[in-house]
Amino acid sequence: MTPTKICLSLTEPTLAADLALVERNRDSIDAVELRADFLDSGERSALRSFPERARLPAILTVRRESDGGRFRGSEEERVSLLRSAIEAPWAFVDLEEDLAASEVEARARARSVRIIRSLHLTAGLPPDLAGRLRRLARSADELPKAAVLLGSSRDLLSLLDAYDELSGVEKVLLGMGPYGFPTRVLASRLGSALSYCTAGERSAAPGHVDPVTLSAIYRARSIGERTELYAVIGNPVMHSRSPWIHNPGFRALGIDAVYLPLPIDDIALFFAIAERLRIRGSSVTIPHKRAVLPYLAERSPEVARIGSCNTLVRTPSGWRGANTDASGFLAPLRRAVEGTRPPRRLPAMTALVAGAGGSARAVVFALTDEGARVTVANRTVERARSLAEEFGCDWAELSSGLVGRGFDLIVQTTSVGMEGGGVDAGGAGNDPLAFYDLSGREIVYDLVYSPRETKLLRRAQAAGCRVVPGMEMLLEQAYAQFALFTGRDYPRGAAET
Ligand code: NAP
Repeated sequence: MTPTKICLSLTEPTLAADLALVERNRDSIDAVELRADFLDSGERSALRSFPERARLPAILTVRRESDGGRFRGSEEERVSLLRSAIEAPWAFVDLEEDLAASEVEARARARSVRIIRSLHLTAGLPPDLAGRLRRLARSADELPKAAVLLGSSRDLLSLLDAYDELSGVEKVLLGMGPYGFPTRVLASRLGSALSYCTAGERSAAPGHVDPVTLSAIYRARSIGERTELYAVIGNPVMHSRSPWIHNPGFRALGIDAVYLPLPIDDIALFFAIAERLRIRGSSVTIPHKRAVLPYLAERSPEVARIGSCNTLVRTPSGWRGANTDASGFLAPLRRAVEGTRPPRRLPAMTALVAGAGGSARAVVFALTDEGARVTVANRTVERARSLAEEFGCDWAELSSGLVGRGFDLIVQTTSVGMEGGGVDAGGAGNDPLAFYDLSGREIVYDLVYSPRETKLLRRAQAAGCRVVPGMEMLLEQAYAQFALFTGRDYPRGAAET
């Protein structure tokens, strides 16, 4: 297996700014691609100085708009720019499949600049991608490259077929967009000679991450045949902080494993992708926690009782489902309860659970199991009622009708107040319990972990309440998953959330 080179695509308006990014990221990259189409036009005359100043193998690319680039001039102007810039000691020049520029090619060959023959597919996966890539190179010394925008889990599976068909062929083959993200991390295992990333504000292609994340968090340069693979599946899932918990945990214990986000739009396809990528375990998040149940060979008692699964572990007899949400929820709550003066006990407490979605199920299970008296309150009261009836508790509408009930514990499980929570949830800065005056005696637990301190928690703290931020639950449920994945305790303090 040839180690994949991590290539930083440079998309700043000036060469000086591009070179500053090279210096800042030098330890995390093996090559650089100068995207000359992003440069201010006044910078183009100095292009030839770039390879020597970068002191890394450099790729020259001038991408036109139709291929996702920024070059707005005519094709003659583009070819003329390539022709003059090629005089410098570039390692590669990227020329598109349909580019007719024999003079540029001849000059490149004369100066030992290797040609990357590239194809950009943003309108879906062609039926015979492997065949097209095989036919791409015009001579044996060219490196064929295809960048394909993936729109679904099915696309990822088809791309994995293409990797299989092209096994042993020297190439660059990458999936763009969130569905293609695993191909950027696993490029060396899949057999892509390069994996690209971007630093700074302007992403060169959909799905790029920064070089430090790709190299240090996702270990893209050191993934080998034996590296164990773990994932978090959901839709959307690219925002997940879990890779910043699990990957530093593996690193701290010297475990050869990597954990990556895997957007999944059809749960059945996850199991097919997991076979192909030899995924050993996965976290499961919205909207798949219940959808995975029919695929489980074995269910932990918590999965059976809560009716949802947030952890998958591969066993010789199939997938075992576990749920660490309930124990992850309880661990920080126990610490908070033990810290109250005078000391309180969960079984003697009255609890308001705001929300009746997936996370509320685990919370209501955990609290009723501990013996607390729970009231579920939700915007859609029917959902509150159905959840409450399942676990034998009270229900109400999430409204001012709750005022004056004097709960000991308030658990906020709606998505209101969450960053990127969408218009419906009001986004960060909203307090779903704004109507509820806090006495200062309550423990207030907000499951939202981004932002770390929600408006509700700030209000609770100001009122003198003991508070539990959602990040504590996120960490605890991940620690429990880590133990299920690896059989080892999580090295507390390693997480980089
Ligand atoms: P979910 O299944 O989609 O449920 C969403 C809940 O939010 C429903 O009860 C919904 O009420 C309510 N809601 C949404 N918009 C609302 C609004 N504008 N006003 C009032 N209620 C609204 O989501 P989930 O899986 O339970 O996740 C909910 C939150 O918990 C998310 O922020 C998630 O990140 C967080 N979470 C944190 C952890 C952790 O480890 N800290 C774990 C899991 C989840 P309706 O039924 O009326 O739609």
